[in-house]
Amino acid sequence: MALPKVFVTRQILDPALELISQSALVEVWPGELPPSPEILREKSAQVDGLLTNVMDRIDGPLLDAAPGLKVISQLSVGLDNVDLPEATRRGVPIGYTPGILAKSTADLAFALLMAAARRIGEGERWVRQGNWQLAHHPMHWLGVDIHESTLGIIGMGQIGQEVAKRARGFDMRVLYYSRTRKPELESRLAMEYAELPELLGASDFVSLHIPLTEETRHYIGEPELRLMKPTAVLVNAARGPVVDPQALYTALKEGWIYAAGLDVTEPEPIPANDPLLSLDNVVVTPHVGSAALPTRLNTMLLAARNLLAGLRGERLEACANPEVYQRLGI
Ligand code: NAP
Repeated sequence: MALPKVFVTRQILDPALELISQSALVEVWPGELPPSPEILREKSAQVDGLLTNVMDRIDGPLLDAAPGLKVISQLSVGLDNVDLPEATRRGVPIGYTPGILAKSTADLAFALLMAAARRIGEGERWVRQGNWQLAHHPMHWLGVDIHESTLGIIGMGQIGQEVAKRARGFDMRVLYYSRTRKPELESRLAMEYAELPELLGASDFVSLHIPLTEETRHYIGEPELRLMKPTAVLVNAARGPVVDPQALYTALKEGWIYAAGLDVTEPEPIPANDPLLSLDNVVVTPHVGSAALPTRLNTMLLAARNLLAGLRGERLEACANPEVYQRLGI
């Protein structure tokens, strides 16, 4: 029997590629930039499966152009680039990678929190620019404390829970707000539920861990930023458009809040002349939340297994639209 064909939209690590290649004919997009929508449509029309990335738009027109697709396996937990209802309607299961990257992403969120609080990015730039002439001055480089402060986590899913665990080591009080209250986690992770305005007003650090949906676009805008303390730090390692960038710029410039740590921006990549990058109280990393080698390998292997299961017509290890199984009769 002929092997199924798959298109992988970005280079992946060898063990994952080898796993796929044992059971499928693989074409890997060689470019650093993602394939254009036209190329992605053209390639999708010729294959049985796709392994995609957050930069690829998976929508109705693409699915229409590729009626032979049996599965799309996405290399991420966030699925804001995928039109799930359209995929379900056409009987295409969407694989994704929940949980496996939660710890690494929480590590990075915490790194941003600490860097913004203690002015690490700003200080590092200053040293490299040759400005460190005076060995020490007690009035210089004062930041805010992390230990024994209050952390507000918005979105108590897999990553939010990992952030809450890390906060315990710093003796932080943890507040959280999520769509669904989670009493069992409150006792296990020693945290308190708070409504959003209360959380924003009481937290020294606010860390965002919600998905990007129509409901959460610009979830943090001017009204929310005005509720935060002038000494507070905002961390966004979720998705850029969850925060209104213009409102954030004004908040940081005018001192409504103290600083921000961003792993994601709107737009992405952020242009070098973006007003936010003119501010010293912003630390930015280039969407690297889950970019630790062992985690990335495990994530790719899960995406590969999801892809292969879909090609075999079986249930995926992690499927974002399991209602599709009823349609497929599996
Ligand atoms: P998750 O386990 O699905 O958790 C998301 C949480 O947000 C859930 O607890 C959810 O609802 C809550 N939520 C959803 N909509 C909400 C709303 N409107 N208001 C309040 N809470 C809401 O996902 P995760 O694995 O923690 O990942 C979270 C997001 O992080 C992903 O969607 C992705 O965009 C982003 N991410 C970024 C990186 C990076 O590299 N920076 C890496 C991985 C993930 P309930 O309260 O009902 O449970």
